[in-house]
Amino acid sequence: MKISELYQGKRPTLAFEIFPPKPEVTLESLFESLEGFKKLQPDYISVTYGAGGSQRGRTVEIASRIKNQYGIEAMSHLTCVGHSVEEIDELLARLKQENIQNILALRGDPPVDQPDFDYSNGAFKYANELISHIKKKDDFCIAAAAYLEGHVDSKRLKEDRARLKDKVDAGVDFLITQLFFDTRLYFDFLDRCESLGIKCPVIPGIMPIFSLRIKNMTAKSGCSIPAKLVLMMDKYQDNPEDLRKAGEEYAGQMIRELLDGGAPGVHLYTMNRLSSTQEILKIAGLRD
Ligand code: FAD
Repeated sequence: MKISELYQGKRPTLAFEIFPPKPEVTLESLFESLEGFKKLQPDYISVTYGAGGSQRGRTVEIASRIKNQYGIEAMSHLTCVGHSVEEIDELLARLKQENIQNILALRGDPPVDQPDFDYSNGAFKYANELISHIKKKDDFCIAAAAYLEGHVDSKRLKEDRARLKDKVDAGVDFLITQLFFDTRLYFDFLDRCESLGIKCPVIPGIMPIFSLRIKNMTAKSGCSIPAKLVLMMDKYQDNPEDLRKAGEEYAGQMIRELLDGGAPGVHLYTMNRLSSTQEILKIAGLRD
């Protein structure tokens, strides 16, 4: 089933994002958690794609098991950075073979050890080029990434939003946002999308704060941390357990506010953490 159909009907839609474990870890631990994730009745689960295609086989394998063994709709992330057309086509063929109809099409980030990475080495420089290619190849449902505060590489917000519009026009069915911590940013972004003529659903991506490591993540992604969260992190800096609980509470409240304000659903970055996901959904009033 194409996920775009979900956004035409039932609301709110609940999506989980998971990532493949490190190569030295077997997939079985993830599949044990999937039993628990399934009980939370997500509308779909998306599986991330390792930078530069590392572990790409695992992404497809996990997405396939979610779809074909657990009976949950699946979406595979796909980044084009460093890939040839042949490699992308091989992956598209595999997804088709596994009956996966949904792709989150991304440019991807350069490998961490290559800050001067040359994007022109790959066949596609930006996500919009990958999206146009997928569109020509087959009838997939395509999602793309959106950045409420602008992508970290962009020099001007106006330019970044114009590029987002190009991406949507290339054939995007829905957008998923990068992490953010102030719901006003989301609603403000919707207004800007409207003025740009972006009409597809924009799904807020919620990243719960599980530990102080969130600081590295926000620094890398250029996303701001509101003062009240800075105070929360200061308060619990020596108490990881309480910080996690406060982070779950914050994420649950954010989801409630977003849905009450009319968001079509949420995309929860679960970080493969089942019990926190259960707790957050309880706080948001979405599951018992
Ligand atoms: P693009 O849309 O191509 O944009 C990248 C930058 O280039 C932006 O600054 C944009 O303004 C600019 N740009 C775009 N088009 C043009 C153009 N034609 N000319 C000039 N400039 C242009 N990464 C992974 O490696 N694996 C994952 O599984 C993964 N999942 C993600 C899931 C979500 C929901 C999000 C929000 C991000 C995810 N990422 C993932 C991170 C993502 O790959 C990075 O943020 C990456 O740097 C940008 O990817 P993009 O598809 O948004 O790029």
